[in-house]
Amino acid sequence: MNGQMMQQPLLISSLLTHAERHHGEREVVSRRVEGDIHRTTYKGMAARARRMAKALAALGVQQSDRVATLAWNGYRHMELYYAVSGSGAVLHTLNPRLHPDQIVYIADHAEDQVLFFDLTFWPLIQAVAGRTKTVRHFVAMTDRAHMPADAARVPGLLCYEDLMDGQDDHYTWPTFDENLASSLCYTSGTTGNPKGVLYSHRSTVLHTFAISLPDALSVAATDCILPVVPMFHVNAWGLPYAACMNGAKLVFPGPGLDGKSLYELFEAEKVTLSAGVPTVWQALLAHVESHDLRFSTMRRSVIGGSACPEAMLRKFGEVYDVRVLHAWGMTEMSPVGTVAGFKPHHLEMTADQRYAVMAKQGRAIYGVDIKIVDEAGAELAWGTETSGDVLVKGPWIIDRYFKGEGGDPLVDGWFPTGDVARIDADGYMQITDRSKDVIKSGGEWIGSIDLENIAMAHPAVAMAACIAAFHPKWDERPLLVVVKKPGAEVTKQELLAFYEGKIAKWWTPDDVVFVDAIPLGATGKMQKNRLREQLKDYKLPTA
Ligand code: AMP
Repeated sequence: MNGQMMQQPLLISSLLTHAERHHGEREVVSRRVEGDIHRTTYKGMAARARRMAKALAALGVQQSDRVATLAWNGYRHMELYYAVSGSGAVLHTLNPRLHPDQIVYIADHAEDQVLFFDLTFWPLIQAVAGRTKTVRHFVAMTDRAHMPADAARVPGLLCYEDLMDGQDDHYTWPTFDENLASSLCYTSGTTGNPKGVLYSHRSTVLHTFAISLPDALSVAATDCILPVVPMFHVNAWGLPYAACMNGAKLVFPGPGLDGKSLYELFEAEKVTLSAGVPTVWQALLAHVESHDLRFSTMRRSVIGGSACPEAMLRKFGEVYDVRVLHAWGMTEMSPVGTVAGFKPHHLEMTADQRYAVMAKQGRAIYGVDIKIVDEAGAELAWGTETSGDVLVKGPWIIDRYFKGEGGDPLVDGWFPTGDVARIDADGYMQITDRSKDVIKSGGEWIGSIDLENIAMAHPAVAMAACIAAFHPKWDERPLLVVVKKPGAEVTKQELLAFYEGKIAKWWTPDDVVFVDAIPLGATGKMQKNRLREQLKDYKLPTA
């Protein structure tokens, strides 16, 4: 016997229509690329999202077509989140920090039809416009008065506000299967080419429910949320959806991610909850400390993407009365998997003990199942010192990459995260290492294999390995370890100069170490964990 409840698909458009109806006057505030502060409400935003949905249809965008963005956090980007997904197309958030070659590769792979961009990225658009194969329209996310003077460089360049002005807001969001794809995000956190993670309406709405819960991010109508985490990083960790679901005020920082600009916005807009990677908080704390400032309303900050150092947790807690919610997840997980909320007995602990709990990556939120396994794949017990590979499963966790890239990623129905951790008796995970061969610098991935391949192309290099070295600001920076060919000579400077023009500048290794040999395993593969161990006391010159 089936239950007798309505079959209502879980659709992203329902989040915005809920916000419009129940929190219509709640504000959405943005620092714009144009430099000023823009204010609207959920009511205003919903009307414009409907107009943009009609504009997309007028551009010939059809169900499941990919529509790309290269944009900061702002109200126009948010309108596209809803206009694109809500109308049944797929929002593809491109990461502007990637090298133009990678952007072209990703846009082609995704078969993007339309590409919306913030004016900051006009030079990047000019670099990629003639090269992408499928993009039919480039749209500058601005008004007529701010269109680039040299707009003719990209023939047929469209203006966002012109598209908006060409439509009215009489539009009804279509109803379709909740399993339809809603958004697409490529990750470079895997070996090989970037891979697409294709979210569905269902996975997104379920993830939104889950992150809103009290022991997750605890989002309420009384909150004012400022997502520092970019909307091109796993949908700003789901906050643009959670804000609508709960009617929280939203504040978008645009390109102003320095400590001073963020602090001013926190205070002026009475932000209560924010989210970002540790590097961003470091810049913010440095500003606040050096000017002896306090947060008058901010009480919770979600920190993830990289491990949050305990010193940062403490400073936020002890000096600024801000509770850090240390969270872990990944693009393949929509992204939230664990959050370090307390259990009752933690409240009886000393402050020191509690900080130690908060420094762990946390326990699984409802919907995410987690386990650690040994090298043979056997599950390891919780509550021991033994670390293992972390595997997860759940309704907002990837089943396969877009277009099946990389084959079937699952192991007996579980997704291997590439992280290595131990789990305590309470189920709190603590990441101890990473098995995937990538480097994460300031929340962005750097492909170690790409860096090695370039070094190997240098005539004086016999073998090259790229590993992550600790950096106090960026958490990790690439360190190139090189074995020279017999009799060959090359300097550090020559090797580093060899990278110029081949990769995004910030991917360039911070230093080169010359060694006699790189440890190899039985199959001849470089043993990077042994290399990391050998160089664990190495200090980068830039650190
Ligand atoms: P991304 O797909 O770019 O969101 O990156 C996901 C990866 O970032 C994870 O698999 C981890 O390696 C790392 N990561 C995310 N959150 C944390 C955290 N709180 N502590 C340590 N590493 C993290």
